[in-house]
Amino acid sequence: MSQKNITLIGSGLVGSLLAIYLAKRGHKVNVFERRGDMRAENISAGRSINLALSDRGWKGLEAVGIGDEIRKVAIPMYGRIIHTITGEINYQPYGKDKQAIWSVSRGGLNCELMTLAERNENVKIHFNERCSNVDIRSGKAEFENQLTQKKRFQESDHVIGTDGGFSAARLQLQLQTDRFEYSQHYLEHGYKELSIPAGKNGEFLLEKNALHIWPRGGYMLIALPNIDGSFTCTLFFPFEARQNESAGQGDHSFAALSDKKKVKAFFEKIFPDALPLMPTLEDDFFNNPTGSLVTVKCSPWNFKDKLLLIGDAAHAIVPFYGQGMNCGFEDCRVFDEMISKENDWEKLFSAFGKSRKPNSDAIADMAVENFIEMRDLVGDKKFLLRKKIEALINQKHPDKWTPQYTLVTFSPDVPYSEAQRHGIQHNAIMDKVMEIPGIEEKWDSPEVEGFILKML
Ligand SMILES: Cc1cc2nc3c(=O)[nH]c(=O)nc-3n(C[C@H](O)[C@H](O)[C@H](O)COP(=O)(O)OP(=O)(O)OC[C@H]3O[C@@H](n4cnc5c(N)ncnc54)[C@H](O)[C@@H]3O)c2cc1C
Repeated sequence: MSQKNITLIGSGLVGSLLAIYLAKRGHKVNVFERRGDMRAENISAGRSINLALSDRGWKGLEAVGIGDEIRKVAIPMYGRIIHTITGEINYQPYGKDKQAIWSVSRGGLNCELMTLAERNENVKIHFNERCSNVDIRSGKAEFENQLTQKKRFQESDHVIGTDGGFSAARLQLQLQTDRFEYSQHYLEHGYKELSIPAGKNGEFLLEKNALHIWPRGGYMLIALPNIDGSFTCTLFFPFEARQNESAGQGDHSFAALSDKKKVKAFFEKIFPDALPLMPTLEDDFFNNPTGSLVTVKCSPWNFKDKLLLIGDAAHAIVPFYGQGMNCGFEDCRVFDEMISKENDWEKLFSAFGKSRKPNSDAIADMAVENFIEMRDLVGDKKFLLRKKIEALINQKHPDKWTPQYTLVTFSPDVPYSEAQRHGIQHNAIMDKVMEIPGIEEKWDSPEVEGFILKML
């Protein structure tokens, strides 16, 4: 295959990894990034935001030989720890054999990926260059320098938009092509990052190797560990008061928590075991922005062989399955596999989008559904029993029943769309199982087991 000149828009997580893949195949890659170089700034002094990396993400990293370097700065989380409002703690392992998802620093991972990309002489990252236009017919991309406001034009064989959920590249597909399918859906919830610092001697103040969840029905707080002993917490919370607020709950929304006193009183009542660990809560609450949560679906992901979208630019999803980045890394790996089999880049771009779209649509929908599970159900007795039954069937008949969570998170060879299909089938079966009279007592009986096996 001949060497191509490729322009990538955005050196985020996906753009940086894709640059590594393309350069390894001998292509010349110019990456244009709107922001300055994070590595030149002291990112550890800023907020530390972390993400859960799971098997699909690892597979994407390992295929270019960088899994081990990233693993050194990642913390395994072997299960969820549920914190109830009355202070009880409930541990739910993610899977058997110490299966784990890994907490990694978003900034740290991004910096590492950029450095690894730049190690290849075929990759050049241009910072402070915001893409303002792409002429999709010629592939000429326009960038405006954020420091000098100078414009430049970049010509290349192919342009790939890895510029995230609010992609400028995607906008050009919308503006310049006919019948471009596009939808965006915002949740009523936003998110706010908060912090639990390390203890006096740098120790973790909560169990280190777990993802902590404070589910409160309708909203939740979560916390993931950082290697410096701190935890990054995220409050997923309604922007505005909702109509069906249950009696006595009060107005629980970002709009209602309008001053520091209200924030403290709210945490005292709702997250009493977390509050003492959050000395900077009130400042964090008002200094940190409130983020919105959007699902973006679009199609097609390419225009001929000129422009292609990958990562969040093609499929932004809500974070409740912890799969946005993982899916983007899987995009990179699958794209690379397809390059090796297809010389015609128009066919390659088109086939890639067509093969990935059913999977990104599936994880987008599962992510929204998982929000309901995390915020409302993980503390619910019936839900816990349901999960216990599923785990038992999985343990006894691993060839017949693998939970959807395991398929999504720990089975990188199973497409997301297949995981979704299994989940739908399992849910229908479990709805019936939970209707069996006396299920609480006989959940582990041969009768229930036989009932399930018959329905599979
Ligand atoms: C609260 C939250 C929690 C999350 N948790 C997880 C998790 O636990 N696990 C997981 O797998 N995923 C998670 N995600 C999703 C994950 O963050 C995204 O899927 C991932 O960052 C997508 O990578 P990307 O490179 O496609 O986009 P981005 O990371 O958004 O990178 C896009 C890059 O393009 C640049 N850019 C944007 N516009 C332009 C332009 N016009 N010109 C030039 N450059 C531009 C940006 O500056 C940025 O560097 C979470 C998301 C949120 C919001």
